[in-house]
Amino acid sequence: MKEEKKFQAESKELLGLMINSIYSNKEVFLRELISNASDAIDKYKFTAIQSEGKLPIKDYFIRIDKNQEQRYLQVQDNGIGMTKEELEKNLGTIARSGTKEFLKKYEEMKEKKEDVDLIGQFGVGFYSAFMVAKKIEVYTRVYGGKTHLFASDGVESYTVEDIEDESIIPDSGTIVRVYLKDDTDEEKYGAYLLDYSIEDLVKRYSDFIRYPIKMVETHKEDDLDEEGKPIEGKTHDVTEDKTLNSMVPLWKKNKKDVTDEELYEFYKSRFDDYEDPLIALNIKAEGTLEYSALIFIPSHAPYNLYSQDYEKGLALYAKGIFISEKNKDLVPDYLKFVRGLVDSEDLSLNISREMLQKSPLLSKMAKNIEKKIVEKLKELKENDYEKYLKFFQVYGDFLKFGIYSTYGAKKDDLQDLLVFDSLLSEKKISFKDYVDKLKEDQKNIYYASGKTKESILMLPEMKHYKDAGIDVLLLCENIDEFTLQVLGDYASHSFKNITEEDKDSLSDDEKKQIEDLVNNNKRFVDDMTSSLKGKVDEVTFSLKLGDAPVSISSKNGLSLNMENTLNNQAEARKEPESKVKATKVLNLNPNHPLFEKISKVQDEEEVKKIASVLYDEAMMLEGFEIEDKQEFLKNLNDLLTKAY
Ligand code: ADP
Ligand code: MG
Repeated sequence: MKEEKKFQAESKELLGLMINSIYSNKEVFLRELISNASDAIDKYKFTAIQSEGKLPIKDYFIRIDKNQEQRYLQVQDNGIGMTKEELEKNLGTIARSGTKEFLKKYEEMKEKKEDVDLIGQFGVGFYSAFMVAKKIEVYTRVYGGKTHLFASDGVESYTVEDIEDESIIPDSGTIVRVYLKDDTDEEKYGAYLLDYSIEDLVKRYSDFIRYPIKMVETHKEDDLDEEGKPIEGKTHDVTEDKTLNSMVPLWKKNKKDVTDEELYEFYKSRFDDYEDPLIALNIKAEGTLEYSALIFIPSHAPYNLYSQDYEKGLALYAKGIFISEKNKDLVPDYLKFVRGLVDSEDLSLNISREMLQKSPLLSKMAKNIEKKIVEKLKELKENDYEKYLKFFQVYGDFLKFGIYSTYGAKKDDLQDLLVFDSLLSEKKISFKDYVDKLKEDQKNIYYASGKTKESILMLPEMKHYKDAGIDVLLLCENIDEFTLQVLGDYASHSFKNITEEDKDSLSDDEKKQIEDLVNNNKRFVDDMTSSLKGKVDEVTFSLKLGDAPVSISSKNGLSLNMENTLNNQAEARKEPESKVKATKVLNLNPNHPLFEKISKVQDEEEVKKIASVLYDEAMMLEGFEIEDKQEFLKNLNDLLTKAY
């Protein structure tokens, strides 16, 4: 029985792209088909080992065949195969998140009119065969099941039917038969039927596939006479079965024989990326713990890195046999953006996946890998700061998270990897850079936080530090201040928020000045304090405000930005009871002309309005929104009317 089905909408979109093939390197289709064949054998092999003899162990192979008359090229494997349901689900719809990402990226690039060809390096899977095919047939069979045939021209629909002939696939596996498009002036699709171009493609893209990729090759040999000497001008065709790939997986090769380019190419095809990775690590651990690992840091964050459904992990192999695609125990949360694979010589294949999770070997490897990644990052920071900054731009917050979420346990490993903008330097600097340039008798590491670098630089407190030539770290990410709080200090230098009230840093003379100001303006300060009840806890004076009439600061360790972050999170979690409150101090600038005027105002209603406007102004300077804009404008207008 033959059924006709329509492709799912997303599939149709992708197929449309493939058929109108926007790419110049259409040849990647072969890599994709071979990689699917290899995956299918991996799956079979793993299932067979676990099946206690129910599935026979086989001689695994991938075979490429071509047919000149019918102009088709086919890739055959004796792997797991697909049931009818799987056939429809896997080839009729797009289940892969990677492909969805591709579509999104493609739309973005089209909008920005960027070069869409770049995206041709994306691993777009099975559908990429439609770049070169006018029709594709897939014969497939699972062990003990029937053979099914999927056929499609890749436009609207596909058909699925049962095949009675059991000889096409004797036990299990899949044949993907690609009927090539007709040659055009620009594109010679027929070239994919030539032995040497197939061989070349396999060598280039699929050499490390761990199963033999076989092909029958035909070449001419001289005819021989009775004495075994060649007869001039007479040849005959010889066909022989040839294995095209070297089969040594990249990670098993000698480290010195593997170039960065090879690692990059491997990364792109194995992990479906269109960009070279930022960092590639080729690890060979020997001794008590024996494993090989290839670890990559993508140049761009995976699109769903911040979403709930992002899965971290490294692919796991045991003695070269694929076990699982994402073993999450192999990387800590704060490095969840790394991709890669680990092949262990010591893991037993016969243990179940659940047992594997608990294997102490895994956690040893994980620790080891983590250490290597951190070392590599330190090295990069030393040797190529520009590239490190690129890394930090994308993933810096994860390192902070590593410190924060482990309550400082990873402090020694990670604190030197952090870099921040600063008041006095153009590029981001580390704590060490900061401490190296401390002013004489400067004890603290000063910082200020806010939404953007620009808004932090506008803080009234900043002028004092700028004038004094004291550097200030500018913290723009929500997690920054929390991280510093967990760190507590760096090389015995405490972190100090410049907007946090800090009486200790005042000279005796300054303390006295402020005390006098409060005493001499007691009535006004009291009126201000009671007007702002519930909003601020104290009204006082600051001598460091530069041109600003007021500022707002916090005390007791919880800054305004931390309060804001925590409360936003509480709101997002719908837990209003876990909201927090920072202790706020409104600082008046005694040297601002405004102070002389307002301190004389007697009318209580009037003071209320002034207090309210000044509070809003101070909050605005800190980078916050005015809470009640109506009220603010009304007060401002009243005060202006009065003034003129
Ligand atoms: P991916 O390989 O990344 O999952 P593809 O588009 O290449 O995406 O393939 C889609 C799915 O089709 C695969 O996940 C697999 O389940 C199935 N598939 C494709 N080729 C084969 C094959 N040769 N044998 C068995 N299943 C296959
Ligand atoms: Mg694939």
